[in-house]
Amino acid sequence: MKIMAVNAGSSSLKFQLLDMPKETKLVSGVVERIGLQDSIFSMKFNGETHKEIKNIKNHSQAVQMLLSKLVSLHIVSSLDEIQGVGHRVVHGGEMFHDSVIIDDEVIASIESVNDLAPLHNPANITGIKAFKEALPNVPAIAVFDTAFHQTMEPVAYMYSVPYEWYTKYGVRKYGFHGTSHKYVSLRAAAMLDKPLNQTKVIVCHIGNGASLCAVKYGKSMDTSMGFTPLAGIAMGTRSGDIDPAIVQFISEKENKSLDEVISELNKKSGYLGLSGLSSDSRDLWEAVERGDKKSILAVEKQAKMIADYIGAYYLMLGGCDAICFTAGIGENASETRKLVVDRLGALGVELDYEQNLTRGKETVISKPSSNIKLLLIPTNEEVMIARDTLELIG
Ligand code: ADP
Repeated sequence: MKIMAVNAGSSSLKFQLLDMPKETKLVSGVVERIGLQDSIFSMKFNGETHKEIKNIKNHSQAVQMLLSKLVSLHIVSSLDEIQGVGHRVVHGGEMFHDSVIIDDEVIASIESVNDLAPLHNPANITGIKAFKEALPNVPAIAVFDTAFHQTMEPVAYMYSVPYEWYTKYGVRKYGFHGTSHKYVSLRAAAMLDKPLNQTKVIVCHIGNGASLCAVKYGKSMDTSMGFTPLAGIAMGTRSGDIDPAIVQFISEKENKSLDEVISELNKKSGYLGLSGLSSDSRDLWEAVERGDKKSILAVEKQAKMIADYIGAYYLMLGGCDAICFTAGIGENASETRKLVVDRLGALGVELDYEQNLTRGKETVISKPSSNIKLLLIPTNEEVMIARDTLELIG
């Protein structure tokens, strides 16, 4: 059975067609610059990349183009072969603890939390509607970034602020990257050869956006992102945790609105802010090689924040079986993994420096004598989306 996994952004549409339940990837691709001049359609299939530049006005056109390519390249003989479409949806508020089949009521519920994810949820809905228009009889499923974290207890998700902020406006920790944290914790249990319901792991999803999650017996107990994805550890362009009073202080000093200051915390901080060079980990490590002091500070600051969260989660979980690294940096940047693990000596963690040079494939990167296993696990959100879709359409 063929299932499409979709991640729609405001001007982009990422897709992957999977053969299920085999979980094999048939094609993957992305349409970028939707609604702008010279939109880019690119699709990988059979080891080749098919790229086309033309004006694609909206998501509906992008979907039409994708579907007609699938037929013209004989990837499917007819569109009837696509039996489900799974959509990544960033914010499910407190309403969605799991993936669901999308109907009008679900769309209304997703829209009702638009103000919690003003950039993402409306874009996700545009993607849902574009596919529904093109494939009206194919069931669509929503898979939420927040759902996995709905198992957190109030003591983890409540902020210590006036309680009415929560009851009136839903101010609490939601957490994100849930699909990735869930996938990685399942793979970790498999690699440890332990039942999931007896396994405790800490997952470090470190990409451009980054978050940690403490997973006990398959359930999220705490996570580093918060009410928004701005919280937690330093990221490519986001600050992670700071003293909130800085916002007002900088607003006054620089004569900037709160919106502008928050935007700088989202877009001009993290790696980019401290290094003044780049938000990309590869650029930073090149600069570190040259001895660039600010870049060294940027990567060390992030590693310290990651290690501090690991320490806190280790205590909270009462020990753990494994610490897992995933996403662009976690899977590839052995230098960052080393910086983090170097700070974990007190936990009796020992990195295998040879194995740590591995990139992008499941590997145990700790020494056999290490107290806690260190695992490199490439994430696969599309497979999780396809699995949930398959399960729901039965
Ligand atoms: P997101 O999905 O949040 O946009 P990714 O998970 O794709 O981000 O991660 C992007 C980050 O991963 C970038 O900082 C990039 O430099 C880093 N990255 C990707 N490949 C490598 C590599 N080979 N070595 C070091 N860093 C890498």
